[in-house]
Amino acid sequence: MRNLYIHAPFCAGKCDYCAFYSEPAPDPASVRLWLDRILFQLEENAPRLENAGTVYFGGGTPSLLPEDVLRRLFAAVREAAPAASEISIEANPFTVTPEKAAVLTSFANRVSLGVQSFDPALLNAVGRRGHAGPGPEEAVRNLRNAGLRNLGLDLMYALPGETPELWRRDLERALELEPEHISAYSVTPEPGTPFTRRVAGQPEDDALSEAMWELAGEILGAAGLPRYEISNYARPGFESRHNSNVWHGQTYLGLGPAACSFDGTDRWTQVSDLRAWLDGAPPEFDRIPRRARLGEVLMMGLRTVRGWTREEFEDATGDAWDGFAEQLNGLSERGLVTLAADAVAPTERGLAFWNDVAESLVFSP
Ligand code: SF4
Repeated sequence: MRNLYIHAPFCAGKCDYCAFYSEPAPDPASVRLWLDRILFQLEENAPRLENAGTVYFGGGTPSLLPEDVLRRLFAAVREAAPAASEISIEANPFTVTPEKAAVLTSFANRVSLGVQSFDPALLNAVGRRGHAGPGPEEAVRNLRNAGLRNLGLDLMYALPGETPELWRRDLERALELEPEHISAYSVTPEPGTPFTRRVAGQPEDDALSEAMWELAGEILGAAGLPRYEISNYARPGFESRHNSNVWHGQTYLGLGPAACSFDGTDRWTQVSDLRAWLDGAPPEFDRIPRRARLGEVLMMGLRTVRGWTREEFEDATGDAWDGFAEQLNGLSERGLVTLAADAVAPTERGLAFWNDVAESLVFSP
C-alpha cells in the first residue's frame, strides 16, 4: 500500500451540510476504543505499509483528539509507515491552541485548516458549527509559530446569499494568511442533510457557481497558487502528494469507520458506524471489473491539470488506455481534453465540465 488514510470520526457538533461520517460530541471512552483499534490495525498492517509514502488524517475533526491520543497515534503511525514523508492532518481552527499546534506539528508536516469562510453570516447560512477557541488567524499564527511550513486552507463557495464579490473577499482574506495550498469546493446539497432539506426546491445556480470557480482560478493563480486539480490550488511544489497519488490510481489503505481502501484491483469501504466498526463489522467489498477500473482510474487522473502520461497510467494500472481511444478522441473533439500519443490532459473546459469526461469514460461499453 503506497498511501495510508486514517479516519477520525469525531466532531464537536454536526454541521448542517455535512455528509461525512462523524459522531458529534464523542465521549472519551469511545475515543479510547477507536484509538485502541486503530493502533491494533496499524500493527497488523505494518508489513503492507512499509513503503507507504504519505499519510493523511481526515475526518471528522482529527485535531479534536486529545493531545495524548494524538501522540500515541503518531508514534504508532511512525512505526508502521516509516517511509512516509508527507504527513497531512485536517484541523478545525477552534482546536488549534498553541499546545495543540505543537503536538500536530511534532509529526504532521501539512495541516489543512477547515476555515470554509471568513464571513460568519455565510457560515451561518449553511449551518457550520461555531465553537469557542482560536479563529482562523490565531490558528494560523499558532501553527506557524510551531514551525509549520506547509499550510492549507479549506474554503467553500456558492453558499446561500454569496455573491462573487463576497467570494473575492474570502479569497483575499485567505491569501493574507499566506497559505501554501487552498482547497475550494462549492457547497453541495448531499442527500439527507438538514441543509439539503432547507434548500429543497430551490434551483441551483450553476452559472454563478461556475463564475466563482473561474474567479478562484484567476485570483489564486495571480497570487502564485495555480489550480492543479479541479478544486485545489498550490504554490509549485506544495501540491498534496497524498491526493495526487490517489487521483493517479495508486493504492491506499484506509483505517477507521467509513474509510475506503484500494489495492489496485479491489476497493473496500469500512462501515459508517463507530459501534459496528468496533464490533468488527466487515467492510463492503467492491470488486470492480477490469475495464470499469481502468475507466475510473483514467477519469480520476483527469481531475488534475497535468492529467496522465502513458507511462504513468501503465505503471498505475499495468494496462494501456488504448481501449478508450474512441472515448478520448470524442472528448478531444469536444474540446474537453488535449490528446497526444503519450499524454492526455483536461482542458480548462474539461475541468469545468469534468462530469462529462467522467461519464464518457465510466459508462463507456
Ligand atoms: S466539522 Fe467537518 S466533518 Fe465535522 S460535521 Fe462539520 S463539516 Fe462535517
